[in-house]
This record gives sequence, C-alpha cells and structure tokens, in this order.
Amino acid sequence: KDFRNSVKPNWCPGCGDFSVQAAIQRAAANVGIEPHELAVVAGIGCSGRIAGYINSYGFHGIHGRALPIAQGLKMANRDLNVIASGGDGDGFAIGMAHTVHAIRRNIDVTYVVMDNQIYGLTKGQTSPRSAQGFITKSTPGGAIEPSLKPLEVALSAGATFVAQGFSTDIKELTALIEAGIQHKGFSFINVFSPCVTYNKINTYEWFKEHLTKLADIEGYDAQNRELAMQTVMEKEGLVTGIIYQDLETKSYQEKVPGYSEQPLSELDMNLSEGQFNDLVKEFM
Ligand code: SF4
Repeated sequence: KDFRNSVKPNWCPGCGDFSVQAAIQRAAANVGIEPHELAVVAGIGCSGRIAGYINSYGFHGIHGRALPIAQGLKMANRDLNVIASGGDGDGFAIGMAHTVHAIRRNIDVTYVVMDNQIYGLTKGQTSPRSAQGFITKSTPGGAIEPSLKPLEVALSAGATFVAQGFSTDIKELTALIEAGIQHKGFSFINVFSPCVTYNKINTYEWFKEHLTKLADIEGYDAQNRELAMQTVMEKEGLVTGIIYQDLETKSYQEKVPGYSEQPLSELDMNLSEGQFNDLVKEFM
C-alpha cells in the first residue's frame, strides 16, 4: 500500500502542499485501501498538480471543475474511494457553485482544499480567501471586499462533514483525511497550506499564533451543528479539527433507487444497436 510514486513535485521549497500530499498518502494507507481503489481528482493551480504525485488513479481536470468529475466517478463506481483536491481560488472562486452543490448533495467524496489565501500559480493575485486590505498586484490599494468564510458556507449548505487542518500538523491532518474518507457522505476538509513565495502575511508563524485546536476547547461537541457554527464565527474560522460531523444522514448514492444493487461501472455495455436504442428511448 505505497501511495508514493517517482514523480518529484515542482512546488516551491517550503510550500504547504507537500504536507497535504503526504497526509493524503498516509491517510489512504491507514484506512487500508490499495492504490487501485483510490482516485484523486484535481483542479487547476499549484495544488492541482497533486493528482500526478500520488500512486493512484489521477485526473487533472479543468479550473474549478474537480468536483463534478469526482462526483461522476463515485456515482459510476461506488467501490472507488474518491478524493477531490484543489486550491482556494479553484474551489471558492470559479468552482464555488460546484462546492456548495456538492456539499448539499452529499455524494461520498472527500474534498481537500489547499487554502493559501492567494493565487500562487499565476504569481500572487488576491483570491476569495485573501483578507480585506490584502495587498497584491491585483489589489495594490488592498482588497476591498471581506474574505469568504468557507466553514460557515459549508455548515449553512448542510454539510455532513466539515474539518480544517494545518500543513505543519501532519498527524492531525492525516487523521482528519482518514475520518473524511471513512465518512459516509461528502467530507469537506479545508487546509491552511501556506504559499511561502507570494503570501508574506499568512505564514506558518502567523497560523501558529492564531490557530486554536478544537480538541483544546472544553465541551466542544462535533455533532452539534449550532455549536460548530457559533465556535467558527467566534474564532473567525481559525480552528483545526473535526468541526462538524452528521453520522445519521444518508449519502446521496444511498438514496438513489437501485444504485447500490448495480453500479454503472459493472453494467454490461456490450449492447446491440437495438438494445442501445431501447435504452435511449427510456430516457426520452
Ligand atoms: Fe506553493 Fe506558492 Fe510556490 Fe505555488 S507559488 S508552489 S502555492 S509556495
């Protein structure tokens, strides 16, 4: 169960994405799956390269569209573990509509966002996660709008699993991704993954000073959605751990009649022209 391959990542030395890659590889090994039982689907951005760095099926999709591909894969083959990944620009700008609908749809996919609060691949422009006043080439006077709050959005959209990690705490991050893979439904995991080249504000040191572990908050209950929302708002999203998990709600695919009996990937597709035409007529 070795999820490493021989491809050398070309991320900048010190980029947070290295730890995310390692955490996904460790989590996949820890849950006991084999490389052929995992598919990693990525979007566009520095983080989007991750699909090529893991020994599994990999799909490097188009900008903001990792989730439609990942959901389609899971619906076609329930036996595959599917992880979608990308950056905050990919998932919270061009891909935001897919993110919200994937959350509320609750197909059994794990979505790992490498949140570095900037566009790295295009050399440092403001992303939806950049703080108000954040100065970049695209906002020389500072970002005017406030940053998006992905945890609050996820909880509001009806997420059944919301977690957040930090690149330097690879042990916690691995455990979060493991829990996400094992969750029966859509698992959303936001990861603070610093861009050491272009984001000189939200650095490793900045996060170490500002983050609170939910495990250190007395009485925190990850199955209480109201408490999760209240805590996330009070802490301005700067928490790590499992924020919320709903263990009761069934996943989308469990609710689709007939899905569990016959995955699409196992259908006999050697149809005659007549059989094919009859099948098409059923949907017209
Ligand atoms: Fe990582 Fe930033 Fe370098 Fe991209 S530009 S590889 S996000 S450090």
